[in-house]
Amino acid sequence: MMKTERFDLDGKVAVVTGGNGGIGLGMARGLAEAGAGIAIVGRNEAKSAAAVAELKQAGTKAIAVTADVTNKDAVITMVERVRRELGRIDILVNNAGINIRKSPHALDLGDWDSVIRTNLTSAFLWSQAVYPAMKETGGGKIINIGSMMSIFGASFAPAYAASKGGIVQFTRSCAVAWAADNIQVNAVLPGWIDTDLTRRARQEIGGLHDKVLARTPAARWGAIADFAGIAVFLSSSASDFVTGTAIPVDGGFCVMG
Ligand code: NDP
Repeated sequence: MMKTERFDLDGKVAVVTGGNGGIGLGMARGLAEAGAGIAIVGRNEAKSAAAVAELKQAGTKAIAVTADVTNKDAVITMVERVRRELGRIDILVNNAGINIRKSPHALDLGDWDSVIRTNLTSAFLWSQAVYPAMKETGGGKIINIGSMMSIFGASFAPAYAASKGGIVQFTRSCAVAWAADNIQVNAVLPGWIDTDLTRRARQEIGGLHDKVLARTPAARWGAIADFAGIAVFLSSSASDFVTGTAIPVDGGFCVMG
């Protein structure tokens, strides 16, 4: 039987914000295995260099792009650099994110702004910046990372939940706006995944580890490798008629009664 080319990303180029660790790196690894060239975006140069070295060792064309995802000028400059060095941009993963855990009455405006800018405004800036490149080559794929807090409220993370709810509506809006340009835009909603972000949460929130295990039908924390498959699916021709969705990757967390 002939091997399917439906998931083949040979010759494609992906930009992954926050791709130097955690879920972003899990997705970057999957995209690279499927044949895509990768631009890893992050602020921490050493972490990005290590991720790029790993991808290159596996035979991928990869570059590290040091930028703050909330800085519009930096985003525009970095998109130009990726196009110059890797030739094109077919896939954008808006994954960079932070959380500041405080109740609504304790959160100050600076905290609110920094979470909204990092998690939501950055997706707007990057999507707008890559749009001309995708339109020029006849299409593209954008994956925005939401959260279970795109669905549920979070008493301890109001700005984070607002940003992740906003990501879903931003995803739907771009999907509708850019469908005629053959650009598919989807969101992925991770459950509880073992990364730096949640390692800190586990230290700060007593009992979190066991609560997540009890509430997750799959009875485990997610691993970053769990994001390789969904990244490839949503970046490949296999998903050409899939747009505007928000797909949980959560071991059943959001359907648990
Ligand atoms: P990590 O903390 O491991 O990764 C976050 C990444 O974002 C890092 O690579 C970091 O790179 C980058 N980043 C943060 N701020 C900026 C910035 N201003 N400019 C550029 N890069 C930035 O977290 P996760 O992998 O857990 O999270 C990835 C995404 O998944 C986030 O959007 C998060 O909200 C979401 N998510 C995670 C869940 C989980 O359980 N882990 C659950 C639901 C959603 P650097 O430090 O180099 O800037």
